[in-house]
Amino acid sequence: MYLEATDQHRGWFQSSLMTSIALNNRAPYKTCVTHGFVVDLDGKKISKSSAYEKPVDAGHFVNEHGADLVRLWASSIDYTADVPFSEEIFTRLADTYRRIRNTLRILLGNLYDFTAHPTLSPSTGQAENLTVPANNRLSPGRGEDTGEGSIAMTLVDRWILERLNDVITDCRSAYEAFEFHKVYHAVNQFCAVDLSSLYIDITKDRMYCDAADSPRRRGTQMVMHEIFGALSRLLAPVLAFTAEESWRYSALGGSVHLQEFPPFEHRGHEASDQVAELLKLRGVIGQAIEHARQQKLIGNALEAAVVLHSNADVTTKISKEELEEFFILSDLTIRQGTEASASVTKTAYKKCARCWRHRPAVGTSKEHPDLCDRCESVVSALSEKAR
Ligand SMILES: [Zn+2]
Repeated sequence: MYLEATDQHRGWFQSSLMTSIALNNRAPYKTCVTHGFVVDLDGKKISKSSAYEKPVDAGHFVNEHGADLVRLWASSIDYTADVPFSEEIFTRLADTYRRIRNTLRILLGNLYDFTAHPTLSPSTGQAENLTVPANNRLSPGRGEDTGEGSIAMTLVDRWILERLNDVITDCRSAYEAFEFHKVYHAVNQFCAVDLSSLYIDITKDRMYCDAADSPRRRGTQMVMHEIFGALSRLLAPVLAFTAEESWRYSALGGSVHLQEFPPFEHRGHEASDQVAELLKLRGVIGQAIEHARQQKLIGNALEAAVVLHSNADVTTKISKEELEEFFILSDLTIRQGTEASASVTKTAYKKCARCWRHRPAVGTSKEHPDLCDRCESVVSALSEKAR
């Protein structure tokens, strides 16, 4: 591969092409990648040979911001055109970097008590990970026996695996075409929106409040394990140090730089279609809750009793328990209606002291009157163990 700036189209690229054809009757390169110039914000070229005052080189920025951030910047730009550059770019980029780093950290934190039993293949040195079967159609209560307990996949788990699959596909083809900015955008979007705002937020309750080996908590950990492994490998060429550092904190073993990119699997988009419908309803509910908050009817969303009118198919297919978890609500009633709408009142249920959700069972137990039924069974099991 020849890599040079656009000024070589009529220079080195061409002269070596002509020489090679004359001598060997073939092109001297298989691939030719050209890039634009780094320019300042006025569009003036910054280069080592220009009359411009001596530019600050990459080493300056590596010392200032770290090599990973400089590499992240290089991956974020569309280098086929001229690239405007200013030091403030690094401030914005640092937010993206922190978001990606935090995502890896949260995933690792949630995996602290999860054993995937990875083994390194003796022939390839590749970590042979526990992978989630592509046709996973497990539902709560129909857990799969993994030896340590059972796991269960809910809608959000299936959805995030479909999204992961899209990200893997997009990043692999972008790397192949040297379109690194597409990798940057795909990973950033996945970390900021799909993981931080949705998946990690929605599964927080089960991760922190369910029994440690509850099937849906273990299912989530299995999914997070899969995401962590894939994300680290996809990031390794760009965030070389960060990916390696987080990989070493995981139980995966070896070095991330000795791994291959995660494989693509056929998962379809059934869960993504359902989540798209739920996100529309989430918007409707969010507006109704915001209105009720302004009216001082409720303090926060967990105090709301929401009646949702909807004709969406998905609300009949997904259990009420999962819908409450998805919308992060305590008290949800679904009614069939022609147009999506939501009304909010203050729930009559009492607040569970442990998970903060308002549940019908709070106050019914003699032993733990301040807990909901889920939390009571978790707490009872824990004190049983301690005895
Ligand atoms: Zn509770």
